[in-house]
Amino acid sequence: QNGSTVSITVVGASGDLAKKKIFPALFALFYEDCLPKHFTVFGYARSKLTDEELRNMISKTLTCRIDKRENCNDKMEQFLQRCFYQSGQYGSEENFVELDQKLREKEAGKLPNRLFYLSIPPNIFVDAVRCASHHASSPTGWTRVIVEKPFGRDSESSAELTRFLKQYLTEDQIFSYFDNYGIIRDIMQNHLLQILALFAMETPVSLDAEDIRNEKVKVLRSMRTLKLDDVVVGQYKGHTKGGKSYPAYTDDPTVPKCSLTPTFAAAALFIDNARWDDVPFLMKAGKALHTRRAEIRVQFRHVPGNLYKRNFGTDLDKATNELVIRVQPDEAIYLKINNKIPGLSMRLDRSNLNLLYSARYPREIPDAYERLLLDAIEGERRLFIRSDELDAAWALFTPVLKELEYKKIAPELYPYGSRGPVGAHYLAAKYNVRWGDLSSESS
Ligand code: NAP
Repeated sequence: QNGSTVSITVVGASGDLAKKKIFPALFALFYEDCLPKHFTVFGYARSKLTDEELRNMISKTLTCRIDKRENCNDKMEQFLQRCFYQSGQYGSEENFVELDQKLREKEAGKLPNRLFYLSIPPNIFVDAVRCASHHASSPTGWTRVIVEKPFGRDSESSAELTRFLKQYLTEDQIFSYFDNYGIIRDIMQNHLLQILALFAMETPVSLDAEDIRNEKVKVLRSMRTLKLDDVVVGQYKGHTKGGKSYPAYTDDPTVPKCSLTPTFAAAALFIDNARWDDVPFLMKAGKALHTRRAEIRVQFRHVPGNLYKRNFGTDLDKATNELVIRVQPDEAIYLKINNKIPGLSMRLDRSNLNLLYSARYPREIPDAYERLLLDAIEGERRLFIRSDELDAAWALFTPVLKELEYKKIAPELYPYGSRGPVGAHYLAAKYNVRWGDLSSESS
C-alpha cells in the first residue's frame, strides 16, 4: 500500500550470515521488484559502523541475477541508499529507543510495519526480543520477528525459549526459521524432518499455512520415537590421499580433542499411520562426505514374481525403480527405471527419465532467504515452524539425544571425503533399503 512502509532491521548486521545471505537476499527481492514501494533496511549490531561503512561492507556481496544484468549498478546504488546503520548492545533498552527514533525518522508519517531479523547467537535472542518488543515495536502497524536456527538443543530448552519469546511476542509474530550442536540437532531434527513431514503428510485442505501445518503436525505426531538401535552416529577423521592431507573434525582448534559430537548421523524412522505402516524412512546427513547433495529418494518395492528374473535369469543386482527429488544442487526430479534394452536380446538396463530444472527453466532459482524474507514481509507462514510442530519434532529426537550423551556413545570414525561410516549401510540393510549409488548417477 502507498500509505505504509516496512522497516527491516537486521540484528547482528556485522555477522557472517547477514553479509552472506540476508543483505544479498534483500537486494535480490528489491531487484525483482518484490519489496514494498516504501521500505528501509537497518543494520543493528555492537560494532561501530557509519551508514557508509555498512553500505561498503554489504555492497561487496550483492549480485544481480545472471539473466538480467541491465541497470544492475543503478539498482545497487538505489538499494544501498535505503540502508542505514545503528550501533547498540543487544540487551540495552536505551539503544533500542535510539533505534526506534531512527526508524520513526525514516517512516516519515507512513503506517509503519517492522520486521526484525535476529541474526545473532541464540543466547542473546531473548534480550534482543525483549528490547525490540518494548522499545522498537511498530506503534500502529505490524511487528514480526524472524528467529534463526538453532532453536534450542532438546525438548526442554526449545520449550523454554518458546516460553520466553511468548512473553514478548504472540505466535503470529514469530517466524522461526530453521553449530556445534551436532548433526542430529543441526540438520536432522529440523531440515530433514521438515522435508519428511512435507513429503509424507496427507493432502491439506488448502494451501493456507494453517492447513499445511496441521497436516505436518499430524505426521510428526504419528511417528515412532526414535530408538538408539535405529541410529548410527559418525565423526570424520583425517587422512592423506594423493599427497594431500584432509583434517579430522577434532583437528579444528575450537573442538576439544576428545569431542564425541557427531558430524554424521543416519536414522530409521517410522510413521504409524494407515498410509505409511511399516515403510522405513531412512535419513542421513553428514559433513565432509564425498558429495554435497540434499535429496529425497523413493525406492519402489520389487514386483512380486519378477518375470524377467524367472524366465530369463536377468536381474539388475536387485536395483529397484527409484524416484529422486534433488533439492540441492542442480534441482531435479528424475525417475530411475529398469528397462529392457531395445533389440532381440532380453537384457535389462537402468535409465533416467529426467527433469533438470536449470535446463527446463533457465532462470536462476531464488535463494531460500529471499523466499523467507518475502514470506515474513507478506505475513505468509506456510514455510515457518509452529511451536506445536517444534514440540512434536523435539519429542521424537530428545530421548535418543539424551541417551547418546548419557552413555557417551563414541561416533564411528569415517575418512574425510568418504561415504560415511559403514554402520549406516548395515542400518539400511536391516530394513532392506540401499542408500543408492550416487556416484554412478548422471544428472
Ligand atoms: P556471528 O557472525 O557469530 O554473529 C553475528 C553477530 O552477532 C556478530 O557480528 C556480532 O556482532 C554479534 N555477536 C557474536 N557473538 C556474540 C556474543 N557472544 N554476544 C553478543 N553478540 C555477539 O553469527 P552468524 O554466522 O552471522 O549467524 C547468526 C545466527 O544465524 C546464529 O544464530 C547462527 O547460529 C545462525 N546461522 C548461521 C548460518 C551461517 O551460515 N553463518 C547458517 C544458519 C544459521 P557485533 O559484535 O557487531 O555485535
